[in-house]
Amino acid sequence: MEECTHLDQIKEVTPNSEGCAECIAKGDTWIHLRMCRTCGHVGCCDESDNRHARQHFRETNHPIINSLEPGEEWSWCFIDEVIVGLEPPPSEQAGGFLKLLKRVLRSG
Ligand SMILES: [Zn+2]
Ligand SMILES: [Zn+2]
Ligand SMILES: [Zn+2]
Repeated sequence: MEECTHLDQIKEVTPNSEGCAECIAKGDTWIHLRMCRTCGHVGCCDESDNRHARQHFRETNHPIINSLEPGEEWSWCFIDEVIVGLEPPPSEQAGGFLKLLKRVLRSG
């Protein structure tokens, strides 16, 4: 099974903005929001026209995003193209990550 090897890039971040900053600047809209787990950048999802979350990954190489949608508790690694955090934690590090994710979601 594919596993993400980039969990060490996850930092304790909070969303930088309440929506996709690039879309807001353009007066555009988005469908779902994703947050970069390395720097807190908020971007729109791949179903949105602008795909700013993916663009942020291309520009910065920050691999892991998580959903900012209520009730969605998953993260995604652009490099491995796997869902991160839904599987049972393979290590203590991943367990800590799950707690971190829940804390971020609660604070949002
Ligand atoms: Zn990865
Ligand atoms: Zn956007
Ligand atoms: Zn980032």
